[in-house]
Amino acid sequence: MSGIITDYFTDCWNYFRRKHPVLESAELDLQTLPAVTFCGNCEKTYPTVQYGRTCPYCGSGETWLLRGSECIIKEIEVED
Ligand SMILES: [Zn+2]
Repeated sequence: MSGIITDYFTDCWNYFRRKHPVLESAELDLQTLPAVTFCGNCEKTYPTVQYGRTCPYCGSGETWLLRGSECIIKEIEVED
């Protein structure tokens, strides 16, 4: 739900890796987390991609995306 398409992201990564020698041996560890939505009516959570904005348990549209829209750089490791 972040709008990042992992194949394109990886292509960009490889493009810059080839262009900058300092990144030549760098590795990308891309982790994709499933999007989860919360229903304010029945207070359950469900997978966003499968059901969208309508709660599959009660049919309510009073829902909020809990996670799945973030893009976080978790760790950058540099060897000497
Ligand atoms: Zn619900």
